[in-house]
Amino acid sequence: MTLTIGVDVGGTKVAGGVVDDTGRVLAQARRDTPAEDVGKTRDVIIEVVTELATGRPVGAVGIGAAGWIDATRSTVLFAPNLAWRDEPLRAYVSAAVGLPVIVENDANVAAWAEFRYGAARHAEDSMVMFTIGTGVGGGIVLGGELVRGAHGIAAELGHMLTVPDGHQCGCGRLGCIEQYASGNALVRFARAGARQEPQRAAALLGLAGGDAESITGPMVTAAAQGGDPVSCEAFAQIGRWLGTSLADMAQILDPQVLVVGGGVVEAGDLLLGPTRRSYADALAQRGRLPVAEVRPAELGNTAGVIGAADLARRF
Ligand SMILES: [Zn+2]
Repeated sequence: MTLTIGVDVGGTKVAGGVVDDTGRVLAQARRDTPAEDVGKTRDVIIEVVTELATGRPVGAVGIGAAGWIDATRSTVLFAPNLAWRDEPLRAYVSAAVGLPVIVENDANVAAWAEFRYGAARHAEDSMVMFTIGTGVGGGIVLGGELVRGAHGIAAELGHMLTVPDGHQCGCGRLGCIEQYASGNALVRFARAGARQEPQRAAALLGLAGGDAESITGPMVTAAAQGGDPVSCEAFAQIGRWLGTSLADMAQILDPQVLVVGGGVVEAGDLLLGPTRRSYADALAQRGRLPVAEVRPAELGNTAGVIGAADLARRF
């Protein structure tokens, strides 16, 4: 049995796990991310790997990080929520722990985990995953391999143009899908609805102490689960946008499975219902051609660790 370590480097937590060749997590370690400090973030990753590798026959390490990773899977070119700029992470960590290391984009890693062990494990060789968290990430598997592109930065699905001249995106453009189908978009839609029609958002505003600007994502989910009309509509809005992007991907790539993951998908059918309806409506030749099923991700928070470890094993 070969063991590998997967490390999921987020803006707030560094989570690591020892994973076997069936995708099982055998041991875990986690630390807070000192996100503003490049050197300290590196040290924390090394600390987590060292803790997990001690006394275990570990063969390689995979690191998943939110950011653009170069084509050789060694350098973080840019990470929006961490201080890394052209950070040669693989060389540092590999030298410190004495093991082969790969670095991969976090959404690619999560997609790989779902393809191997999660919602798309029954897919023969193709899937597309949208990760709906604070932003929108994406991962594509074709021919049984992650699609990484010529420069390592493929599958940035969150920055597909959805609304020309639309809402300002963190990437510098206007109208990316990230601004219409993310957790941030959910909150924006809910706040706008609560300001416009406070009486229909009574339950939601109750959770937010009466102040629309204090509404958070978990509040929208809780209120929607109780039937709050404005909160349900906020989910329906992001589902509508997400469904059209899923249809675009089905038409471009015709994958066997489409997976929706990320924190927002924990709301279940509140999001997936409107998403599936919009997806069906947006497909060309709808009802006449076979199309990919839309499935929720299954691995939750552990996808990052499992996917990174599995990619390291194949290195
Ligand atoms: Zn963008």
